[in-house]
Amino acid sequence: MFASDKVTLIAGPCSVETREQVFAAAKAVKEAGIKIFRGGAYKPRTSPYSFQGLGDEGLELLVEAAKNYGLMTVTEVTEVDVLEKVHEKIDVIQVGARNMDNYSLLKKIGAITAESKKWVLLKRSFAATIEELLLAAEYILSAGNPNVILCERGIRTFEHATRFTLDLNAVPVLKKLSTLPVVVDVSHGTGRADMLIPMSRAAIAAGADGVMIEAHPNPKEALCDGQQSLQTSHLKEWVEECRKVASVLGKSLY
Ligand code: PEP
Ligand code: MN
Repeated sequence: MFASDKVTLIAGPCSVETREQVFAAAKAVKEAGIKIFRGGAYKPRTSPYSFQGLGDEGLELLVEAAKNYGLMTVTEVTEVDVLEKVHEKIDVIQVGARNMDNYSLLKKIGAITAESKKWVLLKRSFAATIEELLLAAEYILSAGNPNVILCERGIRTFEHATRFTLDLNAVPVLKKLSTLPVVVDVSHGTGRADMLIPMSRAAIAAGADGVMIEAHPNPKEALCDGQQSLQTSHLKEWVEECRKVASVLGKSLY
C-alpha cells in the first residue's frame, strides 16, 4: 500500500450517513481510480448535539459499499468497546486526533494488531508536537505491529482563516525521524473545500506518502464536515492534480 515511489490516495465521506450516500461515494471513489475508501461510523464530535454517526450500522454499510466496489476501508475507532469489530471488518484502523493520547486505547490497538499486523492510521492531535505523535506511534510499534501510518491533520494556532493550520513542516520532519509512511489529511487540515486541491499538491510536493480527503456526493447536505468535503464529481480532477505533482517526483499513484 505504501512505497517510496508511490503516493497513496484515500477518499470518502467524513461520516457514513445513509446507504445511498455511502454507495454513491464508494462508486465515485472507485471510478476515480482510488483504492482506499474512508468513512466514519463512530464519530467523535465536539458537540454532543451534533450527528454522532450511525455506529454499528454505519460500519456495516461502509463494509458493504467498499466490498461492492472492491475498495479497502478506513474507519475510526473511538473506544475500546468497538475495537474488536472494527479490527475484524476494516482494513485500516484510524485513531482520531482526539484520541492520539488515549494511551489505554493505543495499548489495546497494539495488542490486537500485534498478530494481524493491520494498518493503523494514527492522527496527530491538534495540540501535539511531532515528538508526541512519534511516541504515541511507539505504543503500537512496541507491541509488535510495524504498520503504523502517521497522519498530519492540522494543528491549532491563532489563525482563523482556516479551521486548523496544516503543518506541512511535519512531513519532512517525520520523514527524517521515522521510516513510517506519512499521510496528510487536507480536509481537516484546512477546513475548506476550496483549499483541498492546492494543499494536496503541496503535501505531495513536501514528500507525503499519501493524501486523505473527505468527499461527499452532496457536501451541502452532509451531516458532518461538508464545508471541507470535495464534491465526489470532482474526485477525478483531484486525482489528476495529485498525479501531476507525484510524477514530477518520479512517483505514481496508488
Ligand atoms: C475524521 O477523520 O473525520 C476526523 C474526525 O478527524 P480528526 O480526528 O483528525 O479530527
Ligand atoms: Mn471529518
